[in-house]
Amino acid sequence: MVREWPCCLCKAAYSDFKEDVCPDCNFVKAYADERGWIYFVRPGIGPCAFKTFYKQPGKGRIRGCRMTEWRASFVDAQRDLHRLAKEKGWKEVEQNG
Ligand SMILES: [Zn+2]
Repeated sequence: MVREWPCCLCKAAYSDFKEDVCPDCNFVKAYADERGWIYFVRPGIGPCAFKTFYKQPGKGRIRGCRMTEWRASFVDAQRDLHRLAKEKGWKEVEQNG
């Protein structure tokens, strides 16, 4: 089950950084679409810019997802991804670092 928000133990509620989300929280998720493209949140250029990026199978390059906006915090960007994944019916995938 995906959490809509980080749990109350996460410092992410007060911080912009992914590392402050506790590992067992189930808030941080990556998703895969029907083509096997992997979608995940990561920081972009600048200190306060997070959004969904995607990676196509067999290609090294990571691209910004045009379906989501830049956000000032990791939490907001991850919430966008949760919402998008739900709309699209994407499946959760294990993140391997
Ligand atoms: Zn947590």
